[in-house]
Amino acid sequence: MYRTHTNGQLRAADINKKVTLAGWVQKTRDKGFMVWVDLRDRYGITQLIFDEERTPTEMMETASQLGREFVIQVTGTVIERESKNSNMPTGDIEILVSEISILNKSLTPPFTIEDETDGGEDLRMKYRYLDIRRKPVRNNLVFRHKVTMAVRNYLSEKEFIEVETPYLIKSTPEGARDFVVPSRMNEGQFYALPQSPQTFKQLLMVGGMDKYFQIVKCFRDEDLRADRQPEFTQIDCEMAFIDQEDILNTFEGLTRHLLKEINGVELGDFPRMQYDDAMRIYGNDKPDIRFGMEFGELNEVAQHKDFGVFNNAELVVGIAVPGGNSYTRKEIDTLIDWVKRPQVGALGMVYSRCNDDGSYKSSVDKFYNQEDLAKWAEVTGAQKGDLICILSGDTTKVRAQLSALRMELAERLGLRKANEFAPLWVVDFPLLELDEETGHYHAMHHPFTSPKPGQLELLDTNPGEVKANAYDLVLNGNEIGGGSIRIHDKKTQAIMLKHLGFSEEEAKAQFGFLMDAFEYGAPPHGGIAFGLDRLVAILGGQETIRDFIAFPKNNSGRDVMIDAPAPLDATQLEELHLKLDL
Ligand code: ASP
Repeated sequence: MYRTHTNGQLRAADINKKVTLAGWVQKTRDKGFMVWVDLRDRYGITQLIFDEERTPTEMMETASQLGREFVIQVTGTVIERESKNSNMPTGDIEILVSEISILNKSLTPPFTIEDETDGGEDLRMKYRYLDIRRKPVRNNLVFRHKVTMAVRNYLSEKEFIEVETPYLIKSTPEGARDFVVPSRMNEGQFYALPQSPQTFKQLLMVGGMDKYFQIVKCFRDEDLRADRQPEFTQIDCEMAFIDQEDILNTFEGLTRHLLKEINGVELGDFPRMQYDDAMRIYGNDKPDIRFGMEFGELNEVAQHKDFGVFNNAELVVGIAVPGGNSYTRKEIDTLIDWVKRPQVGALGMVYSRCNDDGSYKSSVDKFYNQEDLAKWAEVTGAQKGDLICILSGDTTKVRAQLSALRMELAERLGLRKANEFAPLWVVDFPLLELDEETGHYHAMHHPFTSPKPGQLELLDTNPGEVKANAYDLVLNGNEIGGGSIRIHDKKTQAIMLKHLGFSEEEAKAQFGFLMDAFEYGAPPHGGIAFGLDRLVAILGGQETIRDFIAFPKNNSGRDVMIDAPAPLDATQLEELHLKLDL
């Protein structure tokens, strides 16, 4: 037996036991006549002691030569520690070592394997296997395991079955580019890695599987904006013979279960909000509703004075910043600079201070009197002591800008508390979205999403107005899941694809298999997928998903540890019938 106990296990009750432990040397303290070693494994740290009086000389020597991260095995007796450490679960005892063997030596690690390490992100990623030895990373992986187990247990109890679907497939349009894999056996042909198992889970419904889930990798080749990974994990789900209400209830149940199991938080019914309202009130389809600062649309009360900037704007909209009147002029200027950053893109910001005596002082006093400003306060819900921040311009842009400011201010004001959970269903998404650049509509969710009943005809006249049976689950300002009720008849699917710009041939070539399946008794069905990485990060009270992925990629999509992607050698290229043109 390599070990009788783990390094997190022994307590005062074990004193006098003879034990064998194995693990890594966290650190040694060598006083000459006494050597202490902290021995670490996944479960914790146990202190070993070697002392001149009780330990044979040559073992004393071995002990003093141990380096950091050496892998050792020791046998010894559990004894009471003289100076106990109440911060350590094993802090009451230590092991008086009688046998030691060095199982493997280690080079000095390039960063310290401590909770707070001196290693930067790049270095830690290059030696991720060492990083994983650190408690915070290890705990995150254990935490992720707990979440996935809770998901699996909950869903299988509800009669969902986990079915694997293939990775070597052809394009599933989820709005990103595909990663492709050349086929050696089929010259000049390529597989695409799934952006999601969307079409397969629908085919499983046609196959009568009824309630499906899968914890599954998805691959999307997109520019890696903030905290995205080219491969990520979904909890992918689909159900047949259901309507939207069934899906919302089932997966609200799952989310509530997770919050209770993992975070000990009991939540009531999740609120629901129409997409249009979310955009109007928060400028965002994934609003963080842990705090207020709701948008107040000011067109009626701010236009038709002499202020051209507002008069020419499609939308004038503001938020009240609680306590913001205490900001100095300099602080407000910093805010103005913040909204003018290219990432936000506002041209400027108008503000109005709500003084404690009930008067107002705005940056546009030339154009607006106290009565006007009082109306602004009324519309934005501003109280005495608040600051009203106002942006104006094109509706879509200005909403996005003010939403960014709202989140930034909330962050600065400490209103985004990690241990507070505010879920929200956003429902009734538009079916289509206009691509400003190309002038074409594309599916807002994906092409298999069904329009609301009776709205199919609108596609011809007013495509932007058509609403879908599509929903997102939002948690603390993050989209943690999204799905839809699907089209399940060939005719509607064909109409949809036509509106998305597919010719009949293209539609057949790309989605013929699905349309054919719809002709063999496809049941009504719908589903949802949760982004597992993000969900775990939020439940874990952290913002970055990378911390919860064992081997994440960096912002350029590289795995710096194994150094991938990498060139292929000539033989491999030849076998694949590939020529490079770089
Ligand atoms: N396949 C969708 C996605 O990945 C989820 C769904 O509609 O179930 O976002």
